[in-house]
Amino acid sequence: MNPELYILGSGSATPTRERNPSAQLLKIGSAKILIDCGEGTQMQLLKYGIRHTGIDYICISHLHGDHYFGLIGLISTMSLMGRQQVLNIIGPPGLKPILDLQILHGGMSLKFDLNFISTNGNHPEDIITTDDFELSTFPLKHRIHCTGFLIKEAPKQRRLLPEVANSYNIPVEAFKDIKAGSDYINEAGEVIANDILTEAAGTPRSYAYCSDTIFDKQIATYFKDVNVLYHESTYMKNLEDRANMYFHSTAEQAATIAQMTNAAQLLIGHFSSRYDNLQPLLDEAKEVFTNTELAVEGSVWWI
Ligand SMILES: [Zn+2]
Ligand SMILES: [Zn+2]
Repeated sequence: MNPELYILGSGSATPTRERNPSAQLLKIGSAKILIDCGEGTQMQLLKYGIRHTGIDYICISHLHGDHYFGLIGLISTMSLMGRQQVLNIIGPPGLKPILDLQILHGGMSLKFDLNFISTNGNHPEDIITTDDFELSTFPLKHRIHCTGFLIKEAPKQRRLLPEVANSYNIPVEAFKDIKAGSDYINEAGEVIANDILTEAAGTPRSYAYCSDTIFDKQIATYFKDVNVLYHESTYMKNLEDRANMYFHSTAEQAATIAQMTNAAQLLIGHFSSRYDNLQPLLDEAKEVFTNTELAVEGSVWWI
C-alpha cells in the first residue's frame, strides 16, 4: 500500500478559526511519522480518528511555536494513556532542553524513553533507516535553524512469480531467499536465475516536506523526482517583499521548487491568516506547476 499523508494543520503563526498550525501524519509501511506538531495537534488527531499509539517518530522542523507547541501536550497524553514504547524525536538541538524543563517542572514521570536525534541546520544528513522507511533532513533558509525532511519507502524486495516457481518445482521453503535476491539451485545442480523467478517491485515512493523557508534554489539540489512535495506558501506573489522579509515563500515560489525538482505533485500550506479564500494561492501556483493541491485540514494524500 502506498504511504498515506494526513494533513492536520495548514495555518501559519497567527491562529484562525478555520486553520490549525502545521502538523501532518505520514503512514508508511507499518510506521506512523508525525511531521511538525503545532498547538492543538492532538485534538486534530482525535478529530480525524487517528490514534497516537504507533506514532514512534516525530519530526520537528524548527522551534517557531506554530511547529511544536503541541508537542508537550501530546507527550503528556501519551504518558497518561500508559505508553511504554520509545518515542523518537527528530528536531533542532534546542528542543531537548525545552522538553526536559517542561517535564521536570511539570512533575511528569514518563514511563517511556524519549530518544532525541538532533538535526543540523547546515547540510543534508541521513537520520534513520528502518524496515519501513529511510528518513533524511536537509537545511532550509529561515530566521532560525530549520530543516526539511525527505522520507522514502525502504527499498522493496523483488516479487516472486509463483507460477514460474511452481513450473520449476521449487519448494515453498526456498521462496524467502529467492525474494531476497538468491538464485535457486535444484537437486540436479541446475541454477535457476533470480530474474527468471522474480520481477522488480515498484520504485519506492518518496515524500519531501519543506517547512518554513525563504525561496532558495539550493533546496532543489537536495532531492529530485519525489512523488509528493509539500512546500510552504505563506503568501501570494504580490507580497513577495514581505515573504523575503520574514523568510517565507510565495505560492509561485513553491511551484518553482516543484518544477525544479521534477516532483509529481505539489501540496502547498502554511497559509497566512490574511487569506480566507485559498483559491487564489492555488491558482497562482498552478500557473507554474499544474499538479498542485491545497494541503488543507482533513485532506488525505496517497504518496
Ligand atoms: Zn511557521
Ligand atoms: Zn517559522
